[in-house]
Amino acid sequence: MKKKFFDHMIHGGDYNPDQWIKTPEIWDEDMRLMKLAHVNSATINIFSWSLIEPEEGVYNFGWLDTMMDKLHENGISVILATPSGARPPWLAQKYPEVLRVEESGIRNEFGVRHNHCLTSPIYREKVRNINRIIAERYKNHPALKMWHISNEYCGECHCELCQEAFRNWVREYYHNDLEELNDKWWNGFWSHRMNDWSQINSPKFRGENHVPAMKLCWNRFVSDSHISFYKNEIEPLREITPDIPITTNFMKMYDGIDYQKFAKGLDLVSWDNYPAWDKGRNVSEALETAFVHDAFRSMKDGQPFFMMESTPSLVNWHDVNKLPKSGMQELSAIQAIAHGSDSVQYFQWRKSRAGHEKYHGAVVDHCGHENTRVFRDVAHLGKNLEKLGDVTGSYCNSKVAIVCDWENIWATKHFCGFNNINRNYVAECMKWYAPFLKNGISADVIPMDADFSKYDLIIAPFLYMLKDGTAERIEKYIENGGNFVATYLSFMVDKNDMCFLGGFPAENLKNVFGIWNEETDSLPEGMKNSVDFGGEKYDVEHVCDIIHSTGAEILGTYEQDFYKGMPAVTENNYGKGKAYYVAFRNDGNFADIFCKKLVEDAQIAPDCNVTADDGVLIRKRGEHIFVMNFSDSKVKVNLNGEYKNTVSGEMLTGETELDVCGYLILE
Ligand SMILES: [Zn+2]
Repeated sequence: MKKKFFDHMIHGGDYNPDQWIKTPEIWDEDMRLMKLAHVNSATINIFSWSLIEPEEGVYNFGWLDTMMDKLHENGISVILATPSGARPPWLAQKYPEVLRVEESGIRNEFGVRHNHCLTSPIYREKVRNINRIIAERYKNHPALKMWHISNEYCGECHCELCQEAFRNWVREYYHNDLEELNDKWWNGFWSHRMNDWSQINSPKFRGENHVPAMKLCWNRFVSDSHISFYKNEIEPLREITPDIPITTNFMKMYDGIDYQKFAKGLDLVSWDNYPAWDKGRNVSEALETAFVHDAFRSMKDGQPFFMMESTPSLVNWHDVNKLPKSGMQELSAIQAIAHGSDSVQYFQWRKSRAGHEKYHGAVVDHCGHENTRVFRDVAHLGKNLEKLGDVTGSYCNSKVAIVCDWENIWATKHFCGFNNINRNYVAECMKWYAPFLKNGISADVIPMDADFSKYDLIIAPFLYMLKDGTAERIEKYIENGGNFVATYLSFMVDKNDMCFLGGFPAENLKNVFGIWNEETDSLPEGMKNSVDFGGEKYDVEHVCDIIHSTGAEILGTYEQDFYKGMPAVTENNYGKGKAYYVAFRNDGNFADIFCKKLVEDAQIAPDCNVTADDGVLIRKRGEHIFVMNFSDSKVKVNLNGEYKNTVSGEMLTGETELDVCGYLILE
């Protein structure tokens, strides 16, 4: 069922009035400024635990009561956070087990955030307790619109409690059969056969770190620990406020948690978006950011997501923190909406006076007033967002999917061999996503266990690992008429990183693709091969599978080295569909050209008729078309039809121009 949480665009972000508790006049000024900036939502209480529970069992909610009321009176809704992202000093002092143990085996001292054990029963109990009290207190407050659970879950803990939990997790995964584990982890190698479960420990630099299957299990365990920690957090919220939606803010393509799995337990997905604009590569940055938006949008069957954080100006944690030009952040916000966000939110509303993040961009600067470039830009955007109520809740309809699977992110990191230094799986997925967006065709970004049947074309770059049943599902998809593209080093191992025997690609995929991959060559940096495809020459870098056709049509061949003349690009008819294999890593130019052929073969049209110069990205969401200029110059846009400009209300037709950072929302 399609869910819609709000009928207007949410505009606001992280607000930390707890940092200004001794200057209540600033709270009142914030209300005035929020209204000026067209802010309609504030996310509060994220790191307030030491204020709301200053001593164990002693609670201080007066300030939060006042703030909830104040925001409500000013027409601003509240996204209320649970405070587990950072614990109060008393808690760590009294219960040291809540602190994280690093890989070194040394327990951390109190400090920073995210520094908690995911397993500790005491920490889980304390979190559940404070969450219950918060939920009971505000369950009927009219400002409360959403729960924001913790903040940017991340990291891992190696304490004894976590070691024991890991052993139990592994035991369950391998059906309580140590011999099965010994087989799947290939423990005969280097004499690692275990005769007791207690011999399992977390992977460590000074211990076991050369067993890929074990590292995969650790990744899965840590990810599951986060999910189970989250479930513990939301238990009282689900019970007390069953109608308030729940989210937690994810971080880009962070690989410590399987977000695709985690998302199943959220009411809506949200993420923190911090592109590095204006560093001379805005179009590439926009393509990569679009990919991430689409990855999060795809996690709940295309349901709109929230951009929970972004900066209204700069960040403080890039190596060099460039100020974006005026208009850039507005364009960035519009891009998020074009790809499915129902919110534009900032970290943060008002700059901290001191501490680690005092120079991170905020809507209100240290000067304290509204007469700044950043404030004016935010207010301008806020006003425009008020016209976009009809966009909320609408979906994108993608006929193309890129497989980018979190477990395969892990698997492609852990194995040793071939090109060990040039092996970025996510970048490879982005490379194959970009040509579609550049041609106005929307794509979903899905895990390998997603439903394939709704797509006309699926690209699965570097799908090194196959989860149980995936090979059969790919075969069925193609047999039933699907078009499927695989690239180099694909279909090599199962979920335990065990190589498939009998030749690559795995199992019956050899027949499906009509090829056999005999060897894989790796090219040092700077060394190139090339491929002849359709009479044109394309650069090949880093990795070349040396394949034989066993029935597939050869579309392209290598031009150099001892495998000159051998197939590099193949196409095989299988059932009603087509299976393509691109045996090498390309620099993006080949992907651009090959995608044109794929789109033609699969008869996929652009999502709309609007076309524009290079550097403009066009995206259809529901009934709205977003045209966004990420280039450094003025561009031409051909509307090829008549549209209403959603923001200005005027009718547009024919050819029009867009300034740098300019955008159009058409309906
Ligand atoms: Zn622990």
